[in-house]
Amino acid sequence: MRYCILASGSRGNSTYVETQYARILVDVGLSAKKIADRLELMNVEPESIDSIVLTHAHNDHVRGVGQFAFKYNIPIYAHPETLDAITPKLKQGQKINPWQGAFYIKDAFFTPFNLSHDCYPTFGYLIQENLKTLAICTDLGVATPAVKEHLRKANLMILESNHDPLMLMNGVYPWHLKERIASRVGHLSNVEAGELIGDVFHSGMDKIILGHLSEDNNTSQIALDTVLEIVGNQLELYIEVIEQRRMSTVFQF
Ligand SMILES: [Zn+2]
Ligand SMILES: [Zn+2]
Repeated sequence: MRYCILASGSRGNSTYVETQYARILVDVGLSAKKIADRLELMNVEPESIDSIVLTHAHNDHVRGVGQFAFKYNIPIYAHPETLDAITPKLKQGQKINPWQGAFYIKDAFFTPFNLSHDCYPTFGYLIQENLKTLAICTDLGVATPAVKEHLRKANLMILESNHDPLMLMNGVYPWHLKERIASRVGHLSNVEAGELIGDVFHSGMDKIILGHLSEDNNTSQIALDTVLEIVGNQLELYIEVIEQRRMSTVFQF
């Protein structure tokens, strides 16, 4: 499996996942043009994408989906209610695949799991190819026991580490927005991400990527330091932080 985070954070999210036979985008939260440009930087032709899979209908995850899918004639896989919510972005006749439970895209097996977030429904995914499993888990206010159960099956996870609680509370956001972000249906803080990693980490885990960082209420250094303080420095080798404005490297595992 190869994967690359094209963008991560409240200005846009998209992750490219490649298995032996499938090329998939999870979320298309940048413009179609930006997504195409970033794919080309890694020598992936946009028209070679087999499918798009959506986590939820917030704009930072679906901004360019209609245009991108239409332009390159790519089917969109999502929960039926997510597809309903993005209907205004789609043209008539565009290919959509409402999933019910787990599904395959060629050799990639997707298991969705519910996330507690202020967009209903929101999902994380386990993506499995052969014996390797990648978890994508961002946009959640709290990790439920079911979320932990899924993450314990992952060899690699992309996990939200959205904000530093103090920076959020002392920052410039209006009170209702601070409350929303910190709530059980908002976003995971660095502290919560650290506690969650401590809870689900196991010897079969190869890498943990911290993403969906707030540009206003977090920095990569603070996110990393906070998480390491909680889980212990011995996990430093496993953890990497993705910044909002930069594409990640292309990871392989
Ligand atoms: Zn988001
Ligand atoms: Zn969201």
